[in-house]
Amino acid sequence: MAAPSPGRIGAVLESNQIEAIARMVLEAVQKEEEKGNGYAVPIGVSARHIHLTQEHVEALFGPGYQLTKKKDLMGGQFAANEQVTIVGLKLRAIENVRILGPVRKASQVEISATDAIKLGIKAPIRESGDIAGSAPIAVVGPAGALYLKEGCIIAARHIHMSPKEAAEAGLHDGDYVSVKVENDRGTVFNHVKIRVDQSFTLEMHIDTDEANASHIAQGDTAYIIKG
Ligand SMILES: [Zn+2]
Repeated sequence: MAAPSPGRIGAVLESNQIEAIARMVLEAVQKEEEKGNGYAVPIGVSARHIHLTQEHVEALFGPGYQLTKKKDLMGGQFAANEQVTIVGLKLRAIENVRILGPVRKASQVEISATDAIKLGIKAPIRESGDIAGSAPIAVVGPAGALYLKEGCIIAARHIHMSPKEAAEAGLHDGDYVSVKVENDRGTVFNHVKIRVDQSFTLEMHIDTDEANASHIAQGDTAYIIKG
């Protein structure tokens, strides 16, 4: 039998190599997709803070007192220069709690689960603004103190989006999603609420406990894996 011509062998090898290369490229692309696997969202880590009514600002800092701006935050909010001390029922305190402005219709203290243990209070995990029946707490300022019968919560994690971003991600205000963070710990967060508003900048908000436990830093990326 005549041996195949060198030219023909070359053509066969080439076609096999092309197939192998094509398969490798496809696998690499699929792996990348699995890694990202969804809409990317920058993470913002929220430290403990307090929102106050104007009446409560004046009770803590004096009559006519106005909060002063330290740093702008999203949605027209700002970190104020002013800070307070919060005190739990067992007289355990946390100092230097940042006030976020502008003033609101109801005062609200947002702490981590670790803070709640330190303060000796049972704060529920709630969405911002949902404070009915939440934990009581005392607040101390340079000119006075006040006692909140309710208002102390552990903020539920959530993602802020503009309407355009929500449309891109195929999500709506009030939806719940799961997100994945790929780092040396590698964590999936379930029950993440989507909040959509024109004033919002795309950001997932978690508290310091969640960030520390999952080795996440401000500006890290989360991927929405389940709508
Ligand atoms: Zn938020």
